[in-house]
Amino acid sequence: MLAPMNSLLLTGGRVVDPANHFDSSTDLLIIDGKISAVGNYLTAPKGIEEFDAKGKIVCPGLIDLHVHLREPGQTAKENLATGTAAAARGGFTSIVCMPNTLPAIDTAGTVALIRERAAREGVVNVFVTGAITKNIAGEELAPIGGLKHAGVVAITDDGHCVQNHELMRHACQYAKMFDLPVMDHCQDYSLVTDGVMHEGYWSTVLGLRGWPSAGEEVIVARNILLAELTGAKIHCQHLSAAGSVALLREAKKRGVPISGEACPHHFVLTDAAVAGSGKFWVDDGKGLAKFQGGELPEWPKYDTNFKMNPPLRTARDREAILEGLADGTIEILCSDHAPHCDFEKEVEFDYAPFGITGLETELALSLMQLVHAKRLPLADLIAKFTVNPTRLLNLSKGTLSAGADADVTVFDPDCEWVFNTDESASKSKNSPFNGWKLKGKAVATIVGGKTVWAEKSELVAA
Ligand SMILES: [Zn+2]
Repeated sequence: MLAPMNSLLLTGGRVVDPANHFDSSTDLLIIDGKISAVGNYLTAPKGIEEFDAKGKIVCPGLIDLHVHLREPGQTAKENLATGTAAAARGGFTSIVCMPNTLPAIDTAGTVALIRERAAREGVVNVFVTGAITKNIAGEELAPIGGLKHAGVVAITDDGHCVQNHELMRHACQYAKMFDLPVMDHCQDYSLVTDGVMHEGYWSTVLGLRGWPSAGEEVIVARNILLAELTGAKIHCQHLSAAGSVALLREAKKRGVPISGEACPHHFVLTDAAVAGSGKFWVDDGKGLAKFQGGELPEWPKYDTNFKMNPPLRTARDREAILEGLADGTIEILCSDHAPHCDFEKEVEFDYAPFGITGLETELALSLMQLVHAKRLPLADLIAKFTVNPTRLLNLSKGTLSAGADADVTVFDPDCEWVFNTDESASKSKNSPFNGWKLKGKAVATIVGGKTVWAEKSELVAA
């Protein structure tokens, strides 16, 4: 008899499933692409492949709800094949792509195109978001109902921010009607103008135009008021400022349907990094230096791999983001993976595009700053990558319950390794963490019972 397809027995791992409050060293059985059972002494069908997960964490497949795949229109930066390959390497079984492509994902036809192509060329699940406004221009609403029927899981103008509050109010009313969350890139254009880094000490020293924290906080406050007014779920993307965390904390206490996410670069780095590695390690990098084993990664000042939107902020802001993650104010972790070509980034700081890659480093950096730093229990970190994003987006993912899709991530939280952009699966190399020694690494990524990526040493010999 042939062994069943897409089936696997993972033995002896520490199985952590926050959705079921489960955390125990045991086995996990996958049959025909679905979770069959979790427990000891499982009887597996004959001939089934086994994976020795001893010493590893076995958890629901990780989900990154903020990824730029650059399809359609910007495939020199990334495409569905390379973006999903980078996700698989990072331990992610599902990603949510942003609609600021060329053209923008603002019609049912474009949504269908991405979903079709993702099913054919992607190695992990791809969920699609649609634009709030036509062409992400902030002037006229996109056909939100049509986008929902085409399968989007949320709407967002990410990369841009709807400045007209009345238009945003209408977007929220439609979104609520169609049961879609609204995700927002919080940036007030009149305050930020053409700022390229955090407005503060270092922007003054370096002579770069500032992007003040208030430029984010004003829109977070706006979103809280609109969530309260309309009852729509509003999710604030890539929070960077201490004031944003305080606003969110207060609003959530009152039961406002507002949520937030944080990206590793905002809780690992600070604006001192734009002044070069020397300044960063002396001023703000002390807590992280211990992971580097004495050899601190170096970079010059004005390195455009430290330019992103919103920008890196102060050590106080970084601490506030970490506190927000620790106390549950910020429920979701993600990368804001934003690939750009070398030639685009290799220009003066003022002219470089905003954004960095992140899919392959986010698990390690999150483990380092939250779990290894003893700020957050492991199960809570996993929840921020699994059950929490699925709740926001109404996805039937993020759990190891019997019958669920067998999307599983196996990782070694203590594995020390060096991230090298030359070995990345992404088309782009714009990461500030090139050469960093990291702690924690995915060893196998399983989608629908199929191992789509595994560390070579972990692959079972045929
Ligand atoms: Zn954004």
